[in-house]
Parts: sequence; structure tokens; C-alpha cells
Amino acid sequence: MTRPVNVAILGATGSIGQQALDVIDRNPSRLRLFGLTEGRRSARRTADHMIQGQAGDSDFDARVEAMVTDPRCDLVLVAIPGARALAPTLLALKAGKEVALATKEVLVMAGALVMKAAGERGLRPVDSEHSAIWQCLWGERSEHVRRLIITASGGPFWAHPDLDLDQVTVDQALNHPRWSMGPKVTIDSATLMNKGLEVIEAHHLFGIALDHISVSIHPQSVVHSVVEFIDGSMKAQIGRPDMRLPIAVALGYPERLPDAVPPAQLEELSGLEFHALDESRFPSVRLARQAAVAGQGRPAVLNAANEEAVNAFLVGAIPFSGIVQTVEAALNAYPGGGESLPEILEADRWAREFVKAGVRGAPSGRLKA
Ligand code: MG
Repeated sequence: MTRPVNVAILGATGSIGQQALDVIDRNPSRLRLFGLTEGRRSARRTADHMIQGQAGDSDFDARVEAMVTDPRCDLVLVAIPGARALAPTLLALKAGKEVALATKEVLVMAGALVMKAAGERGLRPVDSEHSAIWQCLWGERSEHVRRLIITASGGPFWAHPDLDLDQVTVDQALNHPRWSMGPKVTIDSATLMNKGLEVIEAHHLFGIALDHISVSIHPQSVVHSVVEFIDGSMKAQIGRPDMRLPIAVALGYPERLPDAVPPAQLEELSGLEFHALDESRFPSVRLARQAAVAGQGRPAVLNAANEEAVNAFLVGAIPFSGIVQTVEAALNAYPGGGESLPEILEADRWAREFVKAGVRGAPSGRLKA
């Protein structure tokens, strides 16, 4: 029998990291915890590498580099939120490791560079929509794919068209109707920016043109995404809204791990809804597409401005509707740059400074778009 796969988890204290530990614990003959990084000390565990701290700190960065390039490490799960995940993802890929990616920001910022580093083996998506598309594509030929349809729960505000988005509170925005996730992705889900980021993520992961990727609001979050083929056939992946399933798919590939989640009951699936996205109320997906088409570092600006704006909203510095307005203001002000790694990091730095200066300078916390 082959030995278990040695898994390193970057970001073990977050929601994805904790659920990944659960998946590993339940599959001891197939998966072994090789190492982890954590922002704060959590449950006591044993692994070859136990690293505490934050990416960006030199001691932490050096120890992570040693962990993800360790010859015994087979698979790295990247679950550090936000742009800080880019450097360790590139390190793991360049060391030839399999990478399961939960942090979509990495592909939004630097998709072309990351996919080049991944080469033929590609990346294993952990995002539920992309896991769904990945599973639908197994055994299919790329020239047979016509369109990807990414489903969106719509977040907590989509179903309330009369709600004033200037007035919603942090608690309301963090109260997601379907998924239990970390605060960044939960706010992104409420602004629909999460879907904008996911369109760019899918474009890079699967090599599909941006105008062949659409978004459909599906409040039940049971159909996780759909692939349409050239003959008119459509494949969807169905499952309960539980992140342990896409995590298990990514860690177990090409095997399927038994009983990752209880299966959905078909009899409970009556009344599934699909709706067009109202882009005038939620312009995030349009902004993200435009940034990706225009390139020159704009996706990195979109991503960094969004991260900073979400942070500003969470501390009460700007209203909810100010998040997307801030991202749009940053994209409008950005002069454009190059697409090498240093240039992308510079675009990221520029956007963060732009948003912080705007939030500091505007007494109302409102930037003009
Ligand atoms: Mg998702």
C-alpha cells in the first residue's frame, strides 16, 4: 500500500484550514498532516512543521519556504486569506508541489504567472464553484466546452431589493444565508465581488475566455456550477453547501474520499431557482470583467482595493455601498502598469495606499467614484 499523502496547510486557523484538518483526521490511511501555519495558536497537533505567525514576517516566511519546499511534502493547501498567499503559492509550485488553492485572490492578482508556474499539472481548486467546474470537466476535452456558468447564492441582500445598501450593518453583511466562511469572503459574497473574483479565477484555472463565463443567482446553493458543452449538453455538480466536500475533492484527487459529506437528497431539491444578476444594483462582476480585459495590473488593483475597502467597512470607516464604489474609484485612478511579479506587487501596493489615503482624507469615509 502506498503511504499517505503529506499535506501542508497554509492558514490552518481559518475556516478552510480547520475543515481541512477535519478531512485529514477522517482519512488517516490516505492523508497525513505534514505541516501547518497558523495565525494564532489553536488546537494542539503533531506535524513535522508547526509554524506560527503572519506571512510577511521574515522568520515566518523563511520557515514556510522550508516547509513547502521540503522534499517530503507532497501537497500544499493554500488557505491564507488575501494577497499574502501569492508568494508561498509560487514557492510551492516552483518546488514542484501539488497545490490545492482556496485563496482566489492569488489567481486574480497574478493568474498568468501562477498558471505558468503550475505548468501541466495545473492547480486543484478548493473554491466550491471551481471545484464543481473542475469535476464537470474531468474526462472532457477543452474544445468541447462552450460556456461556464458560475452560480452565486446572492448573499444576504440580493433577495431584498428595497434595502438601502448605504445603511446595512457589519453584522447584517456577515450573516450569510447559506455558507459559513471567513469574514473577507462573506463580505465579498454580500457585495457580489466574490463572483467578480471567481469569474477571473475560472478564466485562469480553466483557460476559458472571460465572455464565455457567466454568473447565475441560485439562492439554494446546491448546484455549485454548470458547464455547457458545444452539443448543448450541460453538466452540473450538486452537493450540500459544505466546504468539506470541495476540500476533500482537492486533497483526495484523483481518488474520491468516502463520506466527505452526506449526499443531498434529490426529493429535497424541488424548487431550485436561477435568476439573472442585476448588475446595476451589484456592479462588482462587471467591474471585475472590465479589469481583467484591460489587464496591465488592473486585476491586482481590483483585488487590493477590495481587500482594503472590506477592512475599512469592517471597522466602520466606510458604508457597505462604499466598498464597491471604492474599488471603482481605484480602477478609474490607476494609470496602468506591467504584468511582471514586481509590477503586480507594485499595483497591489498602489491600490492599498490609494484606498487608505482616501479613507483617511474623506470625513464621511466616502470616496468619489
Ligand atoms: Mg466560491
